[in-house]
Amino acid sequence: MLGPPPVLLAVFAHPDDEAFRCGGTLALLSRRGVRVWVLCATRGEAGVPCLARQQAGQVRERELCCSCRALGIEPPRFLDLQDGTLAQVNEEQAIAQVMRIVRELRPQILLTWPPDGVSGHPDHVAVSRWTGEVFQRTVSPVALYHLVVPRSLAEAMEMGHLHTVPDEAVTLAVDVSAVWAAKMAAIRCHRTQIGGSPILHAPEVKQRLFLSTEHFQLATARPAPLIGLGVFLRLEENSGHDS
Ligand SMILES: [Zn+2]
Repeated sequence: MLGPPPVLLAVFAHPDDEAFRCGGTLALLSRRGVRVWVLCATRGEAGVPCLARQQAGQVRERELCCSCRALGIEPPRFLDLQDGTLAQVNEEQAIAQVMRIVRELRPQILLTWPPDGVSGHPDHVAVSRWTGEVFQRTVSPVALYHLVVPRSLAEAMEMGHLHTVPDEAVTLAVDVSAVWAAKMAAIRCHRTQIGGSPILHAPEVKQRLFLSTEHFQLATARPAPLIGLGVFLRLEENSGHDS
């Protein structure tokens, strides 16, 4: 590929948001020559009950660095906001902070949680909203993707608590079995989080079902030509009709 490498910026709320439902795709993109960055709004300070918040943040920052290394992507960036508070922070300031990183890294593609945050976590909902706003207010990214869980997958996994999308709304399904080892290594980097993870205690067949294919929805794009994830992954994207 001529010119500077294409860039993807994934905007998330917590260390480990990058691993379970999109880590394989990030690893594949990196192997295809895309520079992949994760911007994490918090250090997950509320996620280790046995540790004080600051200490927990330090531990989880290291875990995210470990995960990014395992995926073969750039070291993580942080917004220095506090875990569990993103729905209450000054939204314009947060958007401006994300915007600064976008202006610096000039990604063609943004990736974030969908508006419902999949788990419904208010921090996920907030970063999704900010990233959508940044996309609207800047020109460098040409496409904004949400990582999503198709309804049939949640049903097969008996994960009724997750917010899902109709299967037809998925615009790209990525088989990540070629980078399975890297993805699992990234997940295992999040040592403080995986003890209680139901998916990692599920039978192997269910783990594979949930983790070996990752699903995305093209949320919004500039007018054609679209340089989407599918271009870099050499996969065809469907139009994702939402009904
Ligand atoms: Zn999260």
